[in-house]
Amino acid sequence: MRAHVIGCNGSFAGTESAASSYLVEHEDADGRTWRVLFDLGSGAFGPLQRAVDPALLDAVVISHLHPDHYLDLTGLEVFLAYNERQDLPQMPLWGPAALPARIRAVMDRADDVPDGVTEVPFDYRPVTDRATFSVGPLQIEARLVVHPVESYGFRITAGDEVLVYSGDSDECEALDELATGADLFLVEAGYIEERDDRFTGVHLTGRRAGETAVRAGVRRVALTHIPCWTDPAIPEGEARAVCDLPLQVVRAFDVLEVRPRVSPVGSAGPVRAPLAARR
Ligand SMILES: [Zn+2]
Ligand SMILES: [Zn+2]
Repeated sequence: MRAHVIGCNGSFAGTESAASSYLVEHEDADGRTWRVLFDLGSGAFGPLQRAVDPALLDAVVISHLHPDHYLDLTGLEVFLAYNERQDLPQMPLWGPAALPARIRAVMDRADDVPDGVTEVPFDYRPVTDRATFSVGPLQIEARLVVHPVESYGFRITAGDEVLVYSGDSDECEALDELATGADLFLVEAGYIEERDDRFTGVHLTGRRAGETAVRAGVRRVALTHIPCWTDPAIPEGEARAVCDLPLQVVRAFDVLEVRPRVSPVGSAGPVRAPLAARR
């Protein structure tokens, strides 16, 4: 499994990157590549097309309804509704239950059918806390995390490989549980210590992201969602001060390989620690 960083700039598109969007790919036993897009924030539909033909996406998953995570769905909707290919299937689209109404509002429409066509391009599927769903060989678990709006993090499992994406979240037990033992923890670090201490329940800092990674026992950390006004070296330094794991700050078009833990011969392989053992 791998994650292409389509956009990683925190809170809005920047000069070097669009806002949040990550393309997760995995090949099944028959060699078919499955593709799930997590978030499609402001500015991200452009760079998405550099990484993949959007018609090849198998599903889209939206973490929450802040514009830096969903707004470019409007571009994907146009792409699907008016494409010269008329055989494109409805795109499964998981997200908060209010997502269809939000798209209607942005597009100034009374219903889900784009103007001039007869089909709804998206197959809307509401996400709830602890919901699990699958796309081909990818198993996805959602957890409600801490943010000013209904917001989900996701645990994505393909065979022995586990990727956890925090979405937008401050520190919380749900995120610790979701990230337990992940091979790769793609975690936001939108804030920095002291400067942003006046905000609570919104974003992690580098330090809080690093502490979450340690508590959850992940194997590798990728920090993301750093806004334009923050030097990435600051959240990176905060995380490294509390977390001795392999760690990077992601940039647009990075490709993050998710490799499973190598199990000793005869072992049962990685397990999720019981909750009581982790706190
Ligand atoms: Zn955000
Ligand atoms: Zn947000």
